[in-house]
Amino acid sequence: MNQYDVAIIGSGPGGYVAAIRCAQLGMKTALIEKYAVLGGTCLNVGCIPSKALLDSSHHYEDAVKHFEEHGIDIPGEVKVNLKQMIARKQAVVDQTTKGVEFLMSKNKIDVYHGVGSFKDATHINIAKKDGEETIEAKNTIIATGSKPSSLPFIEIDKERVITSTEALKLKEVPKHLIVIGGGVIGLELGQVYKRLGADVTVVEFMDRIIPGMDGALSKELTKVMKKQKVKFNLSHKVKSVERKGDEVIVKADDKKGKEITISGDYCLVSVGRKPYTDGLNAEAAGVKLDDKGRVEVNEHLQTNVSNIYAIGDVVKGAMLAHKAEEEGTMVAELLAGQKPHIDYNLIPGVVYTWPEVASVGKTEEQLKEEGVAYKAGQFPMRALGRARASMDIDGFVKILADKSTDEVLGVHMIGARCADLIAEGVTAMEFRASAEDISRMSHAHPTFAEAVKEAALAATDDRALHA
Ligand code: FAD
Repeated sequence: MNQYDVAIIGSGPGGYVAAIRCAQLGMKTALIEKYAVLGGTCLNVGCIPSKALLDSSHHYEDAVKHFEEHGIDIPGEVKVNLKQMIARKQAVVDQTTKGVEFLMSKNKIDVYHGVGSFKDATHINIAKKDGEETIEAKNTIIATGSKPSSLPFIEIDKERVITSTEALKLKEVPKHLIVIGGGVIGLELGQVYKRLGADVTVVEFMDRIIPGMDGALSKELTKVMKKQKVKFNLSHKVKSVERKGDEVIVKADDKKGKEITISGDYCLVSVGRKPYTDGLNAEAAGVKLDDKGRVEVNEHLQTNVSNIYAIGDVVKGAMLAHKAEEEGTMVAELLAGQKPHIDYNLIPGVVYTWPEVASVGKTEEQLKEEGVAYKAGQFPMRALGRARASMDIDGFVKILADKSTDEVLGVHMIGARCADLIAEGVTAMEFRASAEDISRMSHAHPTFAEAVKEAALAATDDRALHA
């Protein structure tokens, strides 16, 4: 029987990063993945393929709507070749998962393909294609991730009533895509198909889209997406989804119980994701799950069984790839006797629509609720030369700082390239910068990053220069 210092179940961004860090720290490491490819949700049916389609559809939209103004004439009609778009997406995914394979062999990690299930707290059975194998591990990290969730009355037929997984490989552009759920995944994929020519209607239970983010971001993104002709039914509770041939009919009630009926040809159910522990046989090791089906962990990501840890989407917290990665690193370092720490307040959240939305730290709503005295500085993207040069003028950067100490408490932004710009907010907050610290740093001109400096100037003493 093969013996390991650590076995990791699941090869998503949590699992494979944990494996690399364990190997770097000198542990004999096994990685178990039930699918033939490594990389988990993020690389195969999540972050990477969705961004590939967002990028392709963005190019198409630019060609159709903006090239002429830039002085670029295309003879003939610009057309979508969805088959090629999906094939390119797959090529990007394949390249990325191969990269993970390479990293595993480079770091001398033993990879097992098969469903991993606990026999007891130190033995894992692996059900491989060619038979069963048991390995022994001093420590195990559960990194089994999540799956799309649904509503109890919805039957996901994977043809027309679909989850994000199917939405990443459609064979045609929907005529009318109904998106249930105005969260990150629904809005990103909704925007992909809107750009490619579909009508898109979003039905959201809450009174705003991206409900966990700062209210100002929800408002601005709604405004911009409405301009892009996406329809929104906010404060609507979906009560039925019915398939009739190629038609999908969604019925929903508003807050007063007034019913609306929406007819489309595809319905994307994006109401969140649920932790995945099927087949893991956690009970054989004595590992406890919480009432939401997540593996219960303490602040060291340790389960109730001392040599078993859990990370990523399968435990509490934001379901984000970079959160899973940080947790993978943290557990590896804990196992090596180090004292790592994650500041969950500084895990950024990003929506890769265009304009992009990004956030770190406390929202204005949270600061109000917590009774923290704060000041806010906001700067519009349209006031930047760089934004006008590229015609990406929607959005703003907002910085929230402590009223008395000026420490940055939250950075919220919507606009071009905000997914990358938010790193400045994270860095500033990690080093406990004040708004004035950011405002006194030189930001290259012309860049979108100048909006961060200007918002910091606005927060410091209402000193924005170009507003
Ligand atoms: P996963 O990536 O889900 O990996 C778990 C792995 O465990 C899977 O490969 C699974 O097959 C394997 N497994 C499960 N059970 C077993 C078992 N018993 N034995 C062996 N193997 C097993 N996050 C971002 O940060 N940025 C984004 O842009 C982003 N975009 C997304 C877009 C979409 C459409 C979706 C669906 C998600 C997106 N996410 C994004 C979320 C991100 O994908 C997840 O947060 C991330 O993948 C979680 O990583 P993980 O390692 O916890 O689990």
